[in-house]
Amino acid sequence: MSTNTNAELFAFGDALGPAKIVYLHTPSVGLRAIVVIDNVAAGPAIGGTRMAPDVSVLECFRLARAMTLKNAACSLRHGGAKSVIFGDPTMPRHEKERLIRAFACAIAPLVEYIPGPDMGTDELAMGWIHDEIGRAVGLPAEIGGIPLNEIGATGFGVAIAAEVAAPFAGLSLEGARVVVQGFGAVGEHASRFLAKRGARLVGVADIAGAISNPDGIDIEVLTELKRAGKSVSAYPKATVIPGDALVALPCDIWIPAARPDALRADNVDRLACKLVVQGANVPATKDAEARMFERGIISVPDFIANAGGVIAGAVEYGGGSEAIALAAIEEKVGRNTRLTLEGALAAHVPPAEAATKLAVDRLHKMMKLKRWR
Ligand code: NAD
Repeated sequence: MSTNTNAELFAFGDALGPAKIVYLHTPSVGLRAIVVIDNVAAGPAIGGTRMAPDVSVLECFRLARAMTLKNAACSLRHGGAKSVIFGDPTMPRHEKERLIRAFACAIAPLVEYIPGPDMGTDELAMGWIHDEIGRAVGLPAEIGGIPLNEIGATGFGVAIAAEVAAPFAGLSLEGARVVVQGFGAVGEHASRFLAKRGARLVGVADIAGAISNPDGIDIEVLTELKRAGKSVSAYPKATVIPGDALVALPCDIWIPAARPDALRADNVDRLACKLVVQGANVPATKDAEARMFERGIISVPDFIANAGGVIAGAVEYGGGSEAIALAAIEEKVGRNTRLTLEGALAAHVPPAEAATKLAVDRLHKMMKLKRWR
């Protein structure tokens, strides 16, 4: 586990948070975990529980802050938080269950924190936490959960963001050429919902390979390959290209849906698109955002475009259905994309800056309603 000095810990606090940084240690079960509850002005904080061997407190705080901004931008009655359980997520199931149940018991007193699934955890893990303390989102459907990845909550929101942003980039989704980096839960569903709106997938990558076909790639065939445990590069009617060539494929809409920092100073100038819709978290560095702005490429920031999952989680927490969740995603992601891009145009700033202002303005209003500010 990475260490942080007190000076480092206090240095990253600001007027918004974090409200609490809690270190959990239960030696008898080998549990070590960190919970960062960033801001609870809007209500109990929702944020994923990640299981990973090494995440620093600072990184956990950054992820919690991203949730604060995302939840505030979406006007959810929830603040932002994040937690990390230190461990290998591929450990045997019985060990993982014991560790996660121990984590649940340890966070029982942190009533202002509601965990959700993240890298290394899933709906089953949320079911264990809920069983222990009655508090988690992203639950199995059998106990009222909305299956976020099955219905493609985040990918649906990414498609809505693209639909609203397209006219700002002089595009229509009908016939638009789309490239997607990452064919996981977000990339697959974003591709499918965009295809339903008339767009054409012309390039796609996963961790094992990348392909292109300007005439279009069949998403259902790709999905079958994925279910069979194969890479997109096994798709028969496309050209296999190097992974780093994906960024330069001529297209209208480029969607990062895999790793952080996919767009950086050293590759952003190779983009040959008009619109970037950020499905992944922090897929573009600050330099890359600034350069896209200079080049006139419209970029919809991550916490605006990929909020579908947390919106569905909040609807689930309130007892709502899948249909209500999809309607809320359409309304909130669509409205925020429009407000962000209009704000960016009016102030002549990159959309990421306009989106942060939108979220922080809402947070300040919510904080004014609190007795302790
Ligand atoms: P996932 O694990 O289901 O899929 C990730 C995909 O990215 C896989 O196809 C993988 O092969 C591919 N990939 C990994 N490294 C790659 C690389 N270097 N080049 C090309 N492809 C690569 O993950 P996901 O749930 O789809 O999440 C993707 C991103 O979206 C992550 O940044 C995640 O934090 C973010 N996100 C996900 C959700 C959600 O609801 N799942 C919500 C918000 C944000």
